[in-house]
Amino acid sequence: RAKDAGRGRVCRFEPWMQDEADEQRSLENDLRSALYDGQLSLAYQPIVRSSDDQVVAYEALLRWQHPTRGSISPTVFVPIAEEARLINEIGAWTLRQACQQATGWPETVKVAVNLSVLQLEAENLFGTVIHALAVTGLAPQRLQLEMTESVFLRHGSKLESTLTKLRDLGVSLALDDFGTGYSSLGYLQRADFAAIKIDRSFVKAATLGSAESAAIIKAIVALARGLQMECTAEGIETVAEQAAMRRLGCSQLQGFLFGRPSREQRPAEETAFAAEVHRLPVPPSGDRL
Ligand code: C2E
Ligand code: MG
Ligand code: MG
Ligand code: MG
Repeated sequence: RAKDAGRGRVCRFEPWMQDEADEQRSLENDLRSALYDGQLSLAYQPIVRSSDDQVVAYEALLRWQHPTRGSISPTVFVPIAEEARLINEIGAWTLRQACQQATGWPETVKVAVNLSVLQLEAENLFGTVIHALAVTGLAPQRLQLEMTESVFLRHGSKLESTLTKLRDLGVSLALDDFGTGYSSLGYLQRADFAAIKIDRSFVKAATLGSAESAAIIKAIVALARGLQMECTAEGIETVAEQAAMRRLGCSQLQGFLFGRPSREQRPAEETAFAAEVHRLPVPPSGDRL
């Protein structure tokens, strides 16, 4: 990349840079139609209570089945959607779709939806959430919104007032990927978070014997307890990791061990917006529900 080339160096425009720009533009264009062509869908991954493995929520994760390139990861296309200013539209669809799906689950099970920084900056996020709840009839208490600390980097008080309004409505908030960003404790005061999600990288390191990572997890667990928040460990793949995170005191666990993100399909239900819902994925009908 040009910016990696070093200070004071002359950076020439190389052919690969054009290729990269073309590639970006082409994906951007494809993404514009993806929503309307039904190429986007949601996969749901369980979050379980650590003490008894009961499912407390499913996290909705975006999937893009590209017609020629196959499946593209959200870590690739969400940033493209942000750059192309498509994320608000995709995010609104995701919220409505996830809320609709959750109406078919037991009432004790929440749905967790990831929000992009840009959605939180948008004028109408509160309205979008209200609309998704109203149109689907999902109780606000069953919706959890996940965001990373990065949302606090570029904001003033507008963000905080939006988060407060959502909290007052009954929606809960979770701080995602904790530990990978600035992890400033101040952020925990800026909103009333119901849960902190510890990033998978700490879980991996701690289970591989990193005393530092284990100490960090312990500190986050203590912090969460003191602030009466749930503490969720991400990326649990093995029984050993499950045992280690239980021992460290994480109250909730998520990872392939309990279920991979899954999007079994079923025929579209008769809903007010059935026409625009191309796919209605359901979570695994496993025995946990
Ligand atoms: P995230 O919110 O931290 O989601 C967890 C990611 O970890 C998911 O990746 C999930 O598939 C993966 N994962 C869960 N358990 C395990 C495990 O045991 N082992 C491993 N190796 N991975 C595990 P995914 O689905 O690729 O999503 C990546 C990221 O894309 C998400 O990270 C989230 O930041 C973003 N994303 C996904 N869906 C949405 C969305 O609807 N809106 C926005 N704005 N971002 C989204
Ligand atoms: Mg998440
Ligand atoms: Mg996460
Ligand atoms: Mg993560």
